[in-house]
Amino acid sequence: MEKKTLAYWQDKAATLKIEGRAFIDGAYREAYSGRSFECVSPIDGRVLANVADCGAADVDAAVAAARRSFNDGVWAGLNPRARKAILLRWAALMREHLDELSLLETLDAGKPISDTTSVDVPGAAYCVEWFAEAIDKVGGEVAPADHHLVGLVTREPIGVVAAVVPWNFPILMASWKFGPALAAGNSVVLKPSEKSPLTAIRVAQLAHEAGIPAGVFNVLPGGGEPGKLLGLHRDVDCIAFTGSTNVGKQIMQYAGQSNLKRVWLELGGKSPNIVLPDCPDLDRAANAAAGAIFYNMGEMCTAGSRLLVHRDIKDVFLAKLVEAAKAYKPGNPLDPDVSMGAIVDKIQMERVLGYIEAGRKDSKLLFGGERVNEATGGFYVEPTVFDTHHDARIAREEIFGPVLSVITFSTIDEAVRIANDSDYGLAAAVWTSNLTNAHEIARRLRAGTVWVNCYDEGGDMNFPFGGFKESGNGRDKSLHALEKYTELKSTLVRLR
Ligand code: NAD
Repeated sequence: MEKKTLAYWQDKAATLKIEGRAFIDGAYREAYSGRSFECVSPIDGRVLANVADCGAADVDAAVAAARRSFNDGVWAGLNPRARKAILLRWAALMREHLDELSLLETLDAGKPISDTTSVDVPGAAYCVEWFAEAIDKVGGEVAPADHHLVGLVTREPIGVVAAVVPWNFPILMASWKFGPALAAGNSVVLKPSEKSPLTAIRVAQLAHEAGIPAGVFNVLPGGGEPGKLLGLHRDVDCIAFTGSTNVGKQIMQYAGQSNLKRVWLELGGKSPNIVLPDCPDLDRAANAAAGAIFYNMGEMCTAGSRLLVHRDIKDVFLAKLVEAAKAYKPGNPLDPDVSMGAIVDKIQMERVLGYIEAGRKDSKLLFGGERVNEATGGFYVEPTVFDTHHDARIAREEIFGPVLSVITFSTIDEAVRIANDSDYGLAAAVWTSNLTNAHEIARRLRAGTVWVNCYDEGGDMNFPFGGFKESGNGRDKSLHALEKYTELKSTLVRLR
């Protein structure tokens, strides 16, 4: 297949029709208040669309539609094979609309088109397929019971699931919620980030075309307000949230203030990537360390933002790392040869630049550190590497941008202590040729995912994904994700 060019994507962008309305009860609607907000492309600062700014009336309407559809059984009451067939059609439509959805995602979030076409959109379709394929294969249990009883343990859909998601992988993170939640038979209200609402809005129409009944899948664009109202809503049974730890803490409070809805949180990270002197391949490790923090402009919850490198190999490793960082040259993400796009918006760019300023005060800048391509009107920051220490602000707080903190250590115990000395516990990695050290360190690292001699691998659906400590609770992906969207029921039948 011929490679698509920058000109191809620019032409397509020029004629793209963008939907900005909410999707409630099977139809697009303006916000009840009539309010909208400007959706700006970080590529060049251009306004892409006016997007419905949903509020209380929209939340009530979407939740009511979801509740009605759930109670009517138009979705939950279908047999799993029927739900599977419809979800597979939806995923196929996403794949048919790969170019359009990828373009929307790139324009909206600044992500490289080479990633949105290969990772984000196919990944979202795959997630829907994976849970669709699973749902007619998972069954319940017959539990041991007294002889006069039959005891069934079954899983039932929870009801109305609210999914509140961030902007770094807009459609992919959303699919990790709506894939398993819909497969399990729930009705869903999705609240995309105000920074990247467009693909969620678009796939709602495709869901409708695929045959997902009205009310079963609703999309409410807007800022924090609709997210908060969903969290407080008494008719929402479960809220699945991906985003910052601060907002995650509020979501738990909303549940406590309302109906104790189930709360599932995928939150921030400050993941350590430990390189021991017996690392099997320093070149590969350096490339992976660069990818761990510069892929997706560092807007990664699993970003390997703390590089812990052993004193003995530090100089040689950092020279390799800086070389690897040069491959991430910020440019127009519509160019298929560009691997680093724009930061999602001006606010986030300024936040990242603020951390870089803080780093300049107490750490040594090894690479990058500047805003670039300003004349485009877009928001671009160079990949940036600081030689720093464990207590520096840039080494402790989640930056969510292309800023790497390098920390030096001398012993394995020191590395593990530093790695675990964080409020977060999302991911971690260790590079070593020693099998015993690899397993022992992996065991000691307090993180939901540990990589050995690699970083960010295993991106398919088979591994549960989520965090220890303030990185959240529950797990996305894998069959375990179904646990979040189902209630366990014990049914005891007395035979005589
Ligand atoms: P955020 O917490 O600011 O926003 C997330 C979502 O919550 C958005 O849709 C936002 O509109 C909404 N929101 C904002 N205030 C709210 C409130 N008071 N009540 C309810 N909803 C509210 O996060 P973000 O800036 O969009 O995303 C970045 C964060 O997401 C980072 O911390 C990152 O680590 C985290 N993240 C985690 C994972 C994971 O799987 N662990 C994945 C991606 C991103």
